[in-house]
Amino acid sequence: MLEIAHFINGQIVNGKSSRRQDVFNPATGNADKTVILASEDDVDSAVKAASAAWSDWSKTPALRRSRILDKFKNILWERLNHIAEVISSEHGKTLDDAIGEVTRGIEVVEFATAAPTLLKGEFSENVGSGVDSHMIRQSLGVCVGITPFNFPAMVPMWMFPVALAAGNCFVLKPSERDPSASILIAEWLKEAGLPDGVFNVVQGDKIAVDRLVAHEEVKAISFVGSTPIAKYIYTKGTAKGKRVQALGGAKNHLIIMPDADLEMAANALMGAAFGSAGERCMAVSVAVPVTEPVADALIERLKPKIEELKIGPAMDPVSEMGPLVTAQHLQKVTDYIDAGESDGAEVIVDGRNFKQDKQGYENGFFIGGTLLDNVKENMSCYREEIFGPVLSVVRKKSYQEALDLIHNHEYANGTAIFTRDGDTARNFMQDVEVGMVGVNVPIPVPMAFHSFGGWKSSIFGDHAMHGMEGIRFYTRIKTTTSRWPTGLRQNPEFKMPTLG
Ligand code: NAD
Repeated sequence: MLEIAHFINGQIVNGKSSRRQDVFNPATGNADKTVILASEDDVDSAVKAASAAWSDWSKTPALRRSRILDKFKNILWERLNHIAEVISSEHGKTLDDAIGEVTRGIEVVEFATAAPTLLKGEFSENVGSGVDSHMIRQSLGVCVGITPFNFPAMVPMWMFPVALAAGNCFVLKPSERDPSASILIAEWLKEAGLPDGVFNVVQGDKIAVDRLVAHEEVKAISFVGSTPIAKYIYTKGTAKGKRVQALGGAKNHLIIMPDADLEMAANALMGAAFGSAGERCMAVSVAVPVTEPVADALIERLKPKIEELKIGPAMDPVSEMGPLVTAQHLQKVTDYIDAGESDGAEVIVDGRNFKQDKQGYENGFFIGGTLLDNVKENMSCYREEIFGPVLSVVRKKSYQEALDLIHNHEYANGTAIFTRDGDTARNFMQDVEVGMVGVNVPIPVPMAFHSFGGWKSSIFGDHAMHGMEGIRFYTRIKTTTSRWPTGLRQNPEFKMPTLG
């Protein structure tokens, strides 16, 4: 059976741990691979390698660093299908979705190749007589990325291209559920010319994470995953004096106003709720039609579309939606639908009835798309993140009621409004307390040169990912004030220097 190992100091290594975990192909339900779960010693080896590499890497000219990233980017384009197939085989998402994921990651690499420009400092001449002042951005040292299962390539690529471009070394701890993409990334970075030790991967679980978060040599932690773990990492990491950006879970609402193009809204909801089987932190899981007639008309359009969803293995080009990631996750999603039904939600389309009969895939972790109507704010299927292909409809009477609904939720990652009215759209953009906002755009994921991050319980820490926020997170500023002898001799001054 294929075993996924660590990548430390430029080599694939098994490390010292004897612990292993199965890695499943969600479409077949078979455990085709195992992943090694690191011991604390294995983590220490990775951090040591990164720490040792930092001295040279941080002093490597930014242009040279960016050229290595540029080569890495070209390798990714050349082998896009290969890495996407690996992702699909462990995550379950359709191949075109996996290609889309890697492409969005490549965009961050493209952004990071502008390092010489992005890292430029500031200079002020003559801040006092004969005195100049300049600010530079310097790297932090060893940075860590701890990432979730749902984007095994893109989420790490939100982090390490910017961290490396800025002169840091990196240790990635990917999800143990789909670990293989991380090793391809490590090998391709090496092939692109990245010196050994600059980028390392440790596979593992809580033991690896806890050691990384506690390690003295680790200066910054980027985390993406569920909210309880994000909060835990943020609390532990900051208590140790580290920089932490920890992005958590989501419950994203899409408001449909009476003047919206309803067919456009329904189609947008289909992709946003059921794409990637709803396993996206920017998936829309709550539709909020404003007024009863809009709700009825929306349900009428959504029902047949959901019933006709083409659900199948990733490699089948007709599949629009793949399986869930594991049998446990399938059970969790099913439990939420059960709870919604017993709490009084109306099950309009029931994904629990779905049976995959394609030969060889009967035991895959498949579920159908589900539509719940008349969902209320106190139901667990509304309050909690399901992370599956379940769309809840919460009916509201007015724009203000819909806005209040969003504001009363603990998560605030993404949201959208569908309307033709500029006034309402502008008010929404201005007033909604959510980090990423769409107007007639259902999944408003910012491009690489902007920054990705939610508000409230969807983020802990002050910096979003990539874009200029990423540069700020992965650098610390140093401001130097300098004067050169000009023939002037000054007497000692004991008061605070001012320009006078
Ligand atoms: P998760 O929180 O279970 O795992 C994320 C990472 O934390 C993994 O590397 C895992 O090994 C580690 N981890 C898990 N339990 C831990 C523990 N007890 N102690 C220490 N480390 C632990 O998340 P997941 O199920 O892999 O991913 C889905 C979640 O990620 C969803 O909540 C989703 O909304 C969120 N997510 C958020 C964003 C965002 O940008 N806000 C993006 C993608 C995913």
